[in-house]
Amino acid sequence: MVIIRAKYLIPDSKNCIESGAVVVNDSTITHVGTFNEIKSICKVEKIIDLGNAIILPGLINLHTHLDLTNLHNLIKPTNRFTHWVYQIVCARIRWKNEDYISSIEKGISLSIESGTTTVADITNTGHSFYVLKKSPLRKIIYKEVIDLNPEHANEVINKNLSELSNIETDALLLKGISPHAPYSVSKELYKAVAQTAKEMNIPVCTHIAETQDEIEFLTKGTGDFPALLRQLRALPDNWQPPEITPIKYLNDTGFLNNHPLLIHCNYITDEEIPLIKLSGASVVFCPRSHHFFGHKQHPLLKLLDANLNVGLGTDSLASNDSLSILDEMKYLFHHYSILPRTIISMATINGAKALGMEKQVGQISKGFKADICGIKLQGNKTVDIYKRLFDTSSENIFTMINGVICYNMTCH
Ligand SMILES: [Zn+2]
Repeated sequence: MVIIRAKYLIPDSKNCIESGAVVVNDSTITHVGTFNEIKSICKVEKIIDLGNAIILPGLINLHTHLDLTNLHNLIKPTNRFTHWVYQIVCARIRWKNEDYISSIEKGISLSIESGTTTVADITNTGHSFYVLKKSPLRKIIYKEVIDLNPEHANEVINKNLSELSNIETDALLLKGISPHAPYSVSKELYKAVAQTAKEMNIPVCTHIAETQDEIEFLTKGTGDFPALLRQLRALPDNWQPPEITPIKYLNDTGFLNNHPLLIHCNYITDEEIPLIKLSGASVVFCPRSHHFFGHKQHPLLKLLDANLNVGLGTDSLASNDSLSILDEMKYLFHHYSILPRTIISMATINGAKALGMEKQVGQISKGFKADICGIKLQGNKTVDIYKRLFDTSSENIFTMINGVICYNMTCH
């Protein structure tokens, strides 16, 4: 048994305990309270004192492409999304297996160092299944499927299912499927994924309503996408626009009923919000990636007002500067008018709910898995705790996943 203590403990978004402590036995949290209470009832072998820090539930990153980590600073910022996609495609053409592997390994280190304990990672090549599996992170890894030709739907799903069947899940690894986006996946393929995922109880996610170009492509068949897709030989000759908005596109295929992660939702209509709500899907907001592309203000407040479950993602380093969810929380605190406790929920319990893990992780509570991080505070002690948590100077110094210390920058 080990006690982890710090000046503050925020076990969930509603509570803050001064001089708080957590007791961990093996992989599980057994006690939560003040250090004095815990010291009087528990006989422990070891005390880890994080000092002037806040113990928080481990942060949950709902959207990564860890295999793109090495593209950091190699992709030129552009307001045209299709130019960005094309740059990624070109940059990866010469990549060998070892490039993907080193990219994923780097992404794993950066995630753990910044207090992330769970990631929802999308893999296009399948490398993440093997590299991430060896890491101590808790993870769902989604195999990406892409094909806009409806005639290929069965072939694509069967090929990917056969690849997935070779991957063994474990206590920290779940496997999923991710149809890439409505501009690269036919309705038939979304349908096939939805049906198969339901039968096999496989988690799903998709990029959706990310750009105005995507809306234009789906509703009118015009904009930047047709040229890019022709260049990539991905647009079937007889392709016709479905003439509907993205969430309706998903709803028509049954995909929304699989409790998917809906990544981005940057451009959704007021009529689409109830569809998401009814389906029980979760929205993944990537604040700094959203800013990187210069999108219009995200409809986050509308989504929260509608009581949708919204969690946070970093996206990849091809559109962001760090893989830190703490950095996303700080960005939200300074750029969006939402309560600190909502930001904490988004980074923890909402992420857990989105992944169906809310009975295991996302809060520091007796019986929950010991996924914990510790954020060191600087500055004036009279300043509000949340202001100090979201100050640029705060940083993660401790990460525990499933009871295993994965990162520890304390001197004790
Ligand atoms: Zn993405």
